[in-house]
Amino acid sequence: MDKERNVWLMTQQRMENAMDTLGLKPGIKKYLREPRKTIEVSVRVQMDDGEIDVFKGYRVQHNSDRGPAKGGLRFSPTVTLDDVKALAMLMSLKTAVVDIPFGGAKGGITVNPKELSVRELEALSRQYILELSPNIGIDTDIPAPDVGTNPQIMAWMTDAYSIQKGHFVPGIVTGKPLEVGGSQVRDEATSVGVVSTIISALKHMDMDDIEPRVAVQGFGNAGFHCARILHDMGFRIVAVSDTGGAIYNPEGINPKKARAHKLKSRSVCEFPKCRPIDPRELLEVDCDILIPAALENQIDEDNAPDIKARIIAEAANAPVTPEADKILDQRNIMVIPDLLCNAGGVTVSYFEWLQNRQSYYWSYREVSSKLKKIMERAFSEVYVMSQKRKVNMRNAASILAVKRVADAVSLKTTRSRCYL
Ligand code: GLU
Repeated sequence: MDKERNVWLMTQQRMENAMDTLGLKPGIKKYLREPRKTIEVSVRVQMDDGEIDVFKGYRVQHNSDRGPAKGGLRFSPTVTLDDVKALAMLMSLKTAVVDIPFGGAKGGITVNPKELSVRELEALSRQYILELSPNIGIDTDIPAPDVGTNPQIMAWMTDAYSIQKGHFVPGIVTGKPLEVGGSQVRDEATSVGVVSTIISALKHMDMDDIEPRVAVQGFGNAGFHCARILHDMGFRIVAVSDTGGAIYNPEGINPKKARAHKLKSRSVCEFPKCRPIDPRELLEVDCDILIPAALENQIDEDNAPDIKARIIAEAANAPVTPEADKILDQRNIMVIPDLLCNAGGVTVSYFEWLQNRQSYYWSYREVSSKLKKIMERAFSEVYVMSQKRKVNMRNAASILAVKRVADAVSLKTTRSRCYL
């Protein structure tokens, strides 16, 4: 992988910059620069043809000083240990930005889940969680969905873990279906959070009296729900894309109809009354808000100069490279960084874990109002930090988060004077 595009080096560099700005002591920097624990497993599965296959799986716990490690599981053919390390570090910062009592972790299996039968996928998911079971727990490390995984997979994992423990342990995994201890709002939580940060950004940029035009890259769970919620609020969705292609209609696209079309024909492309465009072109269409909701490294130094949007809301993790960040800064485009923008998912995961621990479940309205409060507070804390330090929103969010994590580490490791 191209050095510049290695998401681990990029995330580590961003962490390094925040640690330097804060003037952290060398020991704390050394500790936060690398994950606390890295687990690699070989997951053995009997395939439908009767043969055994083995898949490489990872779980990285970057930090647990503010609470149990927390983060999703990614099933993707391109997943590497470096990706998982980067995403785990990002989770430590994400939970700190929204100030929920968790650390950061991430897991993954190098597999294309679309190439497995349902039975094979179930066997893989169950075996993987059993392999991890000595290292995870409701007070240790709590997995959740990410790219390529979903509530059904979380249900299988909860079941496998519970059978092994001899009793139902719903809090071991979040992002479960409602029927097995999931939370209201969890399915669309990331998007509810993204939308909340967009509304805050529009207010701060004095753009709240326009009818914003939105382009969404990626039409999976996060991308679809962002488009749907914004459309319902009166925003105009002018372009959407998925792995099959991209479409553009300056008059507006109805996301629910586009989704129905995708479910029938596997892609949004060829959705009526829209012009098919190149997926790269989607990032450069004339719009006010651009939501990258797909994968890493989508906005780089090549396309950053051509972006028309004034706000970029990072629903995906790490979609903008550091080189692109510089160009977007110069062009006064506000980037709402991943660690703030898409933190709604893990925030509702926290609510789900709390509800599981108490066996007491909250209403949709309760969950969404608590979520919005947290997202609004986090946005405003990051915004204030960006004004105070005269840095962009990404650096401000990183500084705020790293400070919270570093304070926890140092309080635990510095011997208090009164006991000397
Ligand atoms: N995978 C999501 C993220 O990147 C959610 C993690 C969680 O809920 O633990 O934030």
